Amino acid sequence: LSKGKVYIAGAGPGDPSLLTVKTAELLRVADVVIYDRLVDPEVLKIARDGARKIYAGKRAGEQWIQEEINALMLAEAKKGRVVLRLKGGDPMIFGRGGEEAEFLRLHGVDFEIVPGVTSALAAPAMAGIPLTHRLLSSSLLIVTGQEAPSKGKRSVDWRLAAGAADTLVILMGAGNFPEVAAELISGGLSSKTPVAVVEWAATPRQRTRLFTLGALGMGGADDEIAPPSVIVVGRVASLAKKLDWFRVDGKTTLKKNKTRPRRARADRSS
Ligand code: SAH
Repeated sequence: LSKGKVYIAGAGPGDPSLLTVKTAELLRVADVVIYDRLVDPEVLKIARDGARKIYAGKRAGEQWIQEEINALMLAEAKKGRVVLRLKGGDPMIFGRGGEEAEFLRLHGVDFEIVPGVTSALAAPAMAGIPLTHRLLSSSLLIVTGQEAPSKGKRSVDWRLAAGAADTLVILMGAGNFPEVAAELISGGLSSKTPVAVVEWAATPRQRTRLFTLGALGMGGADDEIAPPSVIVVGRVASLAKKLDWFRVDGKTTLKKNKTRPRRARADRSS
């Protein structure tokens, strides 16, 4: 491991046993660890005594600006430190790992990219959902749900996404899933399409709930879809019922939900 180098690494979805060996090694030697909000506290415990741990996520009323994070990485690297830039999941999946690498290259700072287990893959696995399945799904699309369709400036065309793959894996979708679901139905998905919502995957707070797209589109969840959650849309989602395996204190993480689809609204998809 080199001094003056920045390691842009993924911390996996939560459970430290899902770290890569390389990231765990980096945690044990890094001088500075700059970490994001979704890096699990259990993971940070592995950092060596005396390492500077710098939180670079959002706090209430406060927000790190990307330029500040970039400047910090640069300054620490120039001081000859081993810098670990630690991000939840995989650094190159909705993690700005690419932008930070671009910045470091521009400033002539050496970096390495250490892949991590992305929540897009880990959350379904923890919930017993195979993203591909010989009979049910031959393709998957990982997409951000953050751009609200109503925002005008949209980068995700949900109607196209509806037909683009057998399974959709939506990250950052907790905020406006009813809108997204409605768009997916307009895009041709049946309102009966199974949807799994996996919150806090690979942590003691994991919770999986199963819905249909139609019910969720009408705001049918009994309580909110809370972040962080991975939303899986497609026939594979219902396999969670059969393959649910993860236990917290001996208890299933697949929770019953009291979906109350309102019958008043017509289902235009079928
Ligand atoms: N780079 C990360 C994603 C960052 S975007 C990765 O590869 O996993 C943040 C989103 O990731 C959250 O809104 C949520 O959709 C998802 N996410 C991250 N960790 C999660 C977890 N433990 N359980 C469920 N979703 C998670």
